[in-house]
Amino acid sequence: MKVLAAASEIFPLVKTGGLADVTGALPAALAKQGVELLTIVPGYPPVMAALEGAAELHAYADLFGGKARLLRGRAKGLEIIAIDAPHLYDRPGNPYLGPDGKDWPDNARRFAALARAAADVATAKLGGAGADILHCHDWQAALAPVYVKFSGGPQKVKTLMTVHNIAFQGQFPASVFGSLGLPAQAFAIDGVEYYGNVCFLKGGLATADRISTVSPSYAQEICTPEYGMGLDGLLRARRDVLSGIVNGIDDEVWNPADDALIAQTYTAKTLPKRLANKRAVEQRFNLEPGEGLLHGVVSRLTWQKGMDIFAASIDRLVAGGARLALIGTGEAGIEEAILAAAERHKGRIGVMLGYDEALSHLVQAGCDTILVPSRFEPCGLTQLYGLRYGSIPIVARTGGLNDTVIDANDAALQAEVATGFQFAPVDQPTLEHTLQRAAECFADQTLWRGMQKRGMASDVSWTRSASTYAQLYRNLLKA
Ligand code: ADP
Repeated sequence: MKVLAAASEIFPLVKTGGLADVTGALPAALAKQGVELLTIVPGYPPVMAALEGAAELHAYADLFGGKARLLRGRAKGLEIIAIDAPHLYDRPGNPYLGPDGKDWPDNARRFAALARAAADVATAKLGGAGADILHCHDWQAALAPVYVKFSGGPQKVKTLMTVHNIAFQGQFPASVFGSLGLPAQAFAIDGVEYYGNVCFLKGGLATADRISTVSPSYAQEICTPEYGMGLDGLLRARRDVLSGIVNGIDDEVWNPADDALIAQTYTAKTLPKRLANKRAVEQRFNLEPGEGLLHGVVSRLTWQKGMDIFAASIDRLVAGGARLALIGTGEAGIEEAILAAAERHKGRIGVMLGYDEALSHLVQAGCDTILVPSRFEPCGLTQLYGLRYGSIPIVARTGGLNDTVIDANDAALQAEVATGFQFAPVDQPTLEHTLQRAAECFADQTLWRGMQKRGMASDVSWTRSASTYAQLYRNLLKA
C-alpha cells in the first residue's frame, strides 16, 4: 500500500508544534505495518538544505505565481517530496508568519500549492504510479481532497483528512477563490465555501473520504458547538466517517534510558538516578535546590493551553511549598504575568521564555510533574513525554488528555492504575485544588513512585496507533 502524506511540518525538518512530531514519526511506525509512506512538504529553507539525492519528479512552469519543481529525495532519514518553489517558501523564520509576527499575506496560495502538488502526485496526473491513499494533515493540506474531488472523473486514490487542531482552519476572504484553480462549483456547501468566505479545512472535511482526529475524546468533542469552532454541524453530518486515533511518541527521540539531552539517563528500575536531572533543572532555572515538589511546564503560553489560569495560580503553588520550572513562549500578556510571578518568587519559580528542544527534555527528566491545564487539547504530546519520563502529568480532563492519563482518584489508586491527575472545569480554584492534591500524593513517596513506574510502563509508543492508522487505510481501500 502506498500512502502519500501532505503536511506543512515534519520533525526534524520543520516544527512549530505537535503536528511535526506526528508526521515525522508516522513513516517509520507505519513501515513496520507494511505501509510505504512518502511525505510531501513545502521546500522551506531547512527542508531544501537537508535534501539529499533529489530526483526531479516534475517541473511546473507556474505554480501559484512562479516556477516550481517537485524533488523526491531523503532528508534527515525521511523520504520526502519537497516542493521547491522559492517564490512561496524561500523565506526565513516561522513557516506561517512573517517578520512582523503576522500571517504571510499569501498563505492561501502557499498552502494551496502544497495541496495542489499533493493531489497531482497522488492522482498520477504528473505521471508515476500515484498513491492508494492521500493522507492530509490540517488546514495547510486540506485543499488536497478538494482538488482530487474536482479534478474531473473518478479517481482511484482515497483521501483521509486528519485534524490536529480544529482552531486552525485556514480562512480567507472569498476573493482568493479565483486564484485557487478550482471550478466555480467548488465554491459551495460541499466545497470550500464557508459563510461567504473560503475555508480550507472546511473544504477538506466536506470532501475527504474519511476524517480522523488525534484522540477519541476530541473526535466526540468537535461534533459539539462548544469545541467544533463552527465546523461541528458539518462534522455531525459526517460522523459515520469520523474517528479518533491517539498520537504516539517517537520512543527513540524520547527515551530516558538513552537521551543525550538530559543530565543522567535512567529507567523505571533506576528511578533514584533521576534526581541528578532534578539538580540540573534547578541549576538551569536558578531554583533553590531541594527535595520538595518541583512542577514542570513545557508549553505554548496561550489561552488554549490554560496558561492564563495557570499564571494566576502560581502564588498558590508557591504557598503550598512547591517550585516550578517553566519553558514556553506565546501571548505577551501571559508571558508578562509569568515573568512577574518569577520576579515575586525568586528561587521558587524559574522561567525560560523561548523554544528549546534540549531543555524540554531536561524538564521532563528532572521535574516531578508536567502540567497541561489546556482548555482544549486534541491529543497533546507533552503528557505522553511526561508518562515516559516519570514526570507525573497534571492535566485538564479534555480531548487526548482525558484519553491518556488515568486520574489518581481513590478507586484508581486502590486498583493501582492511576498515572496522573485530571481536573475539570479549567478554572483557577479547580487547578489550585488539583495542585494541592498532587502535593498530598507527593508526600507519600511510595505511592508517587508507583504512579511514576506505571506511567513509564504504559504504552505511549506509535506501535498501537500506527496499526490503527494502517487498519483505517485498509478499510478505506475496501470502501
Ligand atoms: P501543541 O502542538 O498544541 O503545541 P502538543 O502537546 O501536541 O501541543 O505538542 C507540543 C510540542 O512542542 C511538544 O513536543 C513539546 O515538547 C513542544 N514544545 C512546546 N513548547 C516548547 C518550548 N518552549 N520549547 C521546547 N519544546 C516545546
